[in-house]
This record gives sequence, C-alpha cells and structure tokens, in this order.
Amino acid sequence: MQKGMLFVVSGPSGTGKGTVCKRVKKELEISISVSMTTRKPRAGEIEGESYYFVTHDEFRNALKRNGFLEYAQVYGNYYGTPKAKVLEKLNAGMDVLLEIDIQGALNVKKAFPDSILIFLLPPSLEELEKRIVARGTETEEAIRLRLGESLRELSYVYQYDYCIINDELQDAVDAVASVIRAEHARVRKGIRELIQSYEKSIKGGFLL
Ligand code: ADP
Ligand code: 5GP
Repeated sequence: MQKGMLFVVSGPSGTGKGTVCKRVKKELEISISVSMTTRKPRAGEIEGESYYFVTHDEFRNALKRNGFLEYAQVYGNYYGTPKAKVLEKLNAGMDVLLEIDIQGALNVKKAFPDSILIFLLPPSLEELEKRIVARGTETEEAIRLRLGESLRELSYVYQYDYCIINDELQDAVDAVASVIRAEHARVRKGIRELIQSYEKSIKGGFLL
C-alpha cells in the first residue's frame, strides 16, 4: 500500500493556520495531528482536539520515551508532535497535516525529506495584528511577543516548498488543497512499481 504524505503548515501567530487547516480537512481526506503542549488552554480550546494539555513532567516523560516526531520551545512553552499516531496514519496510507512552528517544520524536513512544507503569510503586518487582537485569546504582552517574532520568522520562508497568502480565506484554503492534490501527482519512488507492472503486462503479451 502507498504510504500517506506528510504536509506541514507554519506561519506567524494569527495568520490563520488553524482556521485554514480546519477548512482544508473538510475538503480533503487528511488527518490533522494533535500536538502535546505545556501551554495552558485558552477559552474554548478542547483537550484532545486543540491540543493534549500536559504538565512539564508529562512532557518530559514523553520526550524520554522518544514519543515525539519533533518538538520545540515556542514563546516559553513546549510543543511536540506525538510520533506513534502520525506514523500509524502514514503507514495506513492516510495523509497527515502538522500545524507547527518553523523549528519543528525544518526538523521534520530533515527527518522526512519527502514532507512538504507550506508557509502561510498574512496579507500585511497590519492585518496580522488586527487578526491576533480580534481573536482575543492573548494578553497584550503575548501579542507583542508574537508580533515581534513574526518579522524574524518571515526570513525562513525561503526554506519552505510553498508560500500561500491568507488574504481571502477560501482562496487560501483552495491553494493549500491544490498543493496537496498536486503533490500526489508528483513522480515519486512509489510510481516505479506501477510502471514495472505495466512493463510486465507488455512483456507478458497482454497488449500485443
Ligand atoms: P493561527 O492559527 O495562525 O494563530 P488562527 O487560525 O487562530 O491563526 O486565526 C487568527 C484569527 O484570524 C482568527 O480570529 C481567525 O478567525 C481570523 N482569520 C483567519 N483567516 C482569516 C482570513 N482569511 N481573513 C480574516 N480573518 C481571518
Ligand atoms: P499556539 O500557542 O498559538 O497554539 O501555538 C504557538 C506556536 O506553536 C504556533 O506557531 C504553532 O504552530 C506551534 N506549534 C503547535 N504545535 C506544535 C508542535 O507540535 N510542534 C512545534 N514545533 N510547534 C507547534
């Protein structure tokens, strides 16, 4: 069976990663990985759906068990992608989407060179600020920290495979879905078996 493909979406906080990924999931057969974090839940976040919210000790134990595909410290909190679940889905032929920060994304690319990195950009920094303020989930200090980081983060866009601007939401969702569909049509190692089966049919005389 063909394995699933691993897609990664990153971008500055407030760009719309979560919003876009949820909509993409409605349009395509793809599993969104739920990360583990030491960050406290925000109002409205659901355990096991938004994140697995854990203590520092629980996070350290998972790390000791080699339980993460990747992990990083972001804005003073730890975040990690549970390894077993992602590998299980990929091995079952399901695509997986990770919504993770830049350090994590670059580590995933090292470990899985076939993974596809997508950078989501806001249409402008003014709009980014508006969105993060309108979301109303961060303190003023956290917003300042996140906006400050976003300028530094932008320079990493060149290490990504795709860059999509989230201006009109549906356009961004369509663009991410198009990347996923197009990547499935790429000539990859797995295609060799199919071509060999065609060659066998020809040699076997089926087509003559
Ligand atoms: P991120 O996951 O990148 O931190 P969110 O998905 O939480 O960002 O989005 C931040 C805020 O911006 C949310 O309030 C969301 O509803 C809003 N948002 C997302 N995409 C758009 C868009 N294309 N146009 C306007 N607002 C958007
Ligand atoms: P937030 O606290 O806003 O939910 O997320 C903060 C940052 O952490 C975002 O850039 C988000 O993509 C990133 N993040 C969420 N989960 C993970 C993860 O498992 N690994 C890494 N490296 N980053 C993550």
